[in-house]
Amino acid sequence: AVIRKLSMGAEKLENLDACVSRISVFVRLRPMGKKERENGSRCCVKVLNKRDVYLTEFTDDNDYLRLKRLRVRHFTFDSSFPETTTQQQVYSTTTGDLVEAVLEGRNGSVFCYGATGAGKTYTMLGTMENPGVMVLAIKDLFAKVRQRSLDGNHVVHLSYLEVYNETVRDLLSPGRPLILREDKQGIVAAGLTQYRAYSTDEVMALLQRGNQNRTTEPTRCNETSSRSHAILQVIVEYKTRDGSMNIISRVGKLSLIDLAGSERALATDQRTLRSLEGANINRSLLALSSCINALVEGKKHIPYRNSKLTQLLKDSLGGSCNTMMIANISPSNHSFGETQNTLHWADRAKEIRVKGCEVNEEVVQVGEQGGPDQAQLLLELQKE
Ligand code: ADP
Ligand code: MG
Repeated sequence: AVIRKLSMGAEKLENLDACVSRISVFVRLRPMGKKERENGSRCCVKVLNKRDVYLTEFTDDNDYLRLKRLRVRHFTFDSSFPETTTQQQVYSTTTGDLVEAVLEGRNGSVFCYGATGAGKTYTMLGTMENPGVMVLAIKDLFAKVRQRSLDGNHVVHLSYLEVYNETVRDLLSPGRPLILREDKQGIVAAGLTQYRAYSTDEVMALLQRGNQNRTTEPTRCNETSSRSHAILQVIVEYKTRDGSMNIISRVGKLSLIDLAGSERALATDQRTLRSLEGANINRSLLALSSCINALVEGKKHIPYRNSKLTQLLKDSLGGSCNTMMIANISPSNHSFGETQNTLHWADRAKEIRVKGCEVNEEVVQVGEQGGPDQAQLLLELQKE
């Protein structure tokens, strides 16, 4: 059998052309929360023209009437979502094209970055009434698989895992920590459950359950601050035959990542267990920042090995992958510092250049010496 890896041109996915060589960066501003309104928060962020973000610094004066504007900073991104943006709009702009690409055998990843309470989990998972990117992506994927059922066989597998305190855990079947191993596809978590999925409802229930398995600890700056990074991996395998009866198989991987809160450990309790956690969160996010810096500077060596998170995200950051980042921010002036950090981080991430996104395809040619015979190939296709 002859196995070859094809690198297809981007002609099929024209709308992905623009982001083939760099990461796309989006900002999502959430609405003011009830509590924030009650404690006299003022809005310090404005999104205009779907791209521009203006961040206003006020004097640190508690007297509402005497608050003065100090200065306004301006940022611009691939898209910026004002507080009125729907989940569907966020999904379509950031992830819709990636779902299409994954069906073609490409890799893609989307991650949410931002302080605790900024709206990362809302964006990724959402609620029953307003499902987020993870759920909408899978819904869309199933619809597209159904549309294409005549072209070949698609099989969808899901895994959901978390990195907490530099430990990797399976969120779909909690148990002992998983060990990361390097194989020919890259870094994999050994023993991770690969759930074969058939319907959207089933997946929503699965993700909700998985999310309840996420490790959350109370911290001083927020009641339930999520200190874990959650990664949903959707793997789509596709098998078909070409005109000469060769088997063509493609594998696409979509990674959807809800990062832990990016606030500095300094802002939380330093002296308890949580300071250790804080350090480790920092280690993962710090490692992520160093990798991003190294990528931005075009360095040869990217320090992926510095944390579990960066090992897992290796092929999402510097590999052959379309990567989207969503930076989540709160509108409240009480979150000014965090918002400013997040916007700086996102601004920096715009500079990352990545390799073009290839198709992961194998062609098994029939009749070649040493190749499987026709009957065997047919059996293999029917098994799916
Ligand atoms: P994070 O995961 O970043 O810590 P959450 O996603 O949990 O933050 O959001 C904090 C709170 O704000 C939650 O109650 C969430 O429902 C609400 N929220 C976040 N983003 C939005 C949004 N775009 N629209 C409405 N409510 C939101
Ligand atoms: Mg969260």
